[in-house]
Amino acid sequence: MRGKVLGGSSSINVMAYVRGHRGDYDRWARNGCTGWSYAEVLPYFKRCETWEKGENAWRGGRGPLSVIDSRNRDPLFEAWLDAAREADWPFTEDYNGKEQEGFGLGQWTIRNGRRCSAAVAFLRPALSRPNLTVEINALATRVILEGTRARGVEYTSAGRIHHVAAAREVLLAGGVFNSPQLLMLSGIGDASHLREVGIQPKVNLPGVGRNLQDHLTVDVHHLRRAPGPFHAAMRLDRAALNMARAYVLGTGPGTVLPSHLHAFLKTRRELAVPDIQFLFRGAPPRAYPWLPGIKPAYADSFGLRPVMLHPESRGVVRLRSSDPSTPVRIVQNFLATEHDVRTIREGVKLGRDIAGRKSLEQFRGRETAPGPECRTDAELDAFVRRTAITAHHPCAMCAMGTGEDAVLDPSLRVRGVDGLRVIDASAMPDLVSGNINACVMMIAEKAADLVLGKLPLPA
Ligand SMILES: Cc1cc2nc3c(=O)[nH]c(=O)nc-3n(C[C@H](O)[C@H](O)[C@H](O)COP(=O)(O)OP(=O)(O)OC[C@H]3O[C@@H](n4cnc5c(N)ncnc54)[C@H](O)[C@@H]3O)c2cc1C
Repeated sequence: MRGKVLGGSSSINVMAYVRGHRGDYDRWARNGCTGWSYAEVLPYFKRCETWEKGENAWRGGRGPLSVIDSRNRDPLFEAWLDAAREADWPFTEDYNGKEQEGFGLGQWTIRNGRRCSAAVAFLRPALSRPNLTVEINALATRVILEGTRARGVEYTSAGRIHHVAAAREVLLAGGVFNSPQLLMLSGIGDASHLREVGIQPKVNLPGVGRNLQDHLTVDVHHLRRAPGPFHAAMRLDRAALNMARAYVLGTGPGTVLPSHLHAFLKTRRELAVPDIQFLFRGAPPRAYPWLPGIKPAYADSFGLRPVMLHPESRGVVRLRSSDPSTPVRIVQNFLATEHDVRTIREGVKLGRDIAGRKSLEQFRGRETAPGPECRTDAELDAFVRRTAITAHHPCAMCAMGTGEDAVLDPSLRVRGVDGLRVIDASAMPDLVSGNINACVMMIAEKAADLVLGKLPLPA
């Protein structure tokens, strides 16, 4: 699932704003990504954002991307926090600030009650620049290479093939699946794979499309004893008014997500960074507008999703054909190691532990997932294999680094090719401890300085 629209997936995502743990970026730097330690990327996170609570040592106050705190008033979330205290988990004031670990209020990329996507924050304000042309309904099909130098891009639009020449560089931002696809279509990738699909290899770069990693998640879910405020707001007449108010005034229940909290936890004390995130939800995934006599209301429920933050399993993206309009083959390869099976199982157990605490008693009905029949480790593992899904954070298929499989150098330049960079989630060397959109924005912000040849912001 990807956003094929201006702003890409930031135009369709859940808007959660999470930078990850400082240790993630220090690991990147340790593993060869010079310039990407936490101290070095922090100024770029700050330059990106306007945090509604104002600038401080960790947060930005003047950037294009608006970030707000959660505004949900459902008492269920207070009970979750009490349950977390009961279980002795820490609370963090700002998980994008000094300390990520613990339970904290959710933060969202929202401005005036509306989505603040990459297109809203960065592209729209730049649209009137004379040196910018935006082509929509255009499919980039190939990077034009002269020897090993990128000279431009070929694309199709309205059935016609076009060429654009690059004065200096070509910057790919097609996202995790399409940037590696475009490299491979251009003859940059694993030479033997390219030959299999009839593409003449130009630069043998075996790492292209490898190293796919993604956040896996499952549901821990309960029926709710009495319907909550989101359920009430979903009655069709109210929902229509709420949406109209949200659209016109940018206020009211239509601007508030049925979620309020995040938690970033370590399943073992000795870990350097959290390995489980909880995504909380005060409504069922298939909530819909209802109206007495017309469409019966849904049974209200609530839950949390444990997300495995640092899987060992690696997948791969491959071409099915040399035709650019043919979707790539995506092999996620989830749960390929014992570590991953154990970690997500631990996440489910921790989630169940909190959901079963006394503080939630007044809200908690029957457990619907994993369900009372799931007790033993084997039963939990079977539940995970049956129901786990992606949290939509694939990354790292054009990973930067210095190792053999690295596709990009730490300046995001494609190795072995002149004048070509990749600037999107595929450039991440590995997963960070949280949703990745903020990290992608930071990469782009830093890339702007790299492309312009500016000195990096002071660490
Ligand atoms: C359903 C969903 C929910 C998510 N929720 C969250 C969340 O709450 N918080 C969070 O932090 N992250 C979330 N994410 C992840 C996050 O949004 C993405 O990781 C991030 O937007 C990726 O940015 P990107 O620039 O790498 O690629 P994308 O945003 O995917 O952008 C790629 C762009 O390139 C275009 N493109 C691709 N190929 C071509 C081509 N050949 N020619 C022309 N154009 C092309 C696409 O149309 C798109 O506009 C979510 C993702 C999804 C799908």
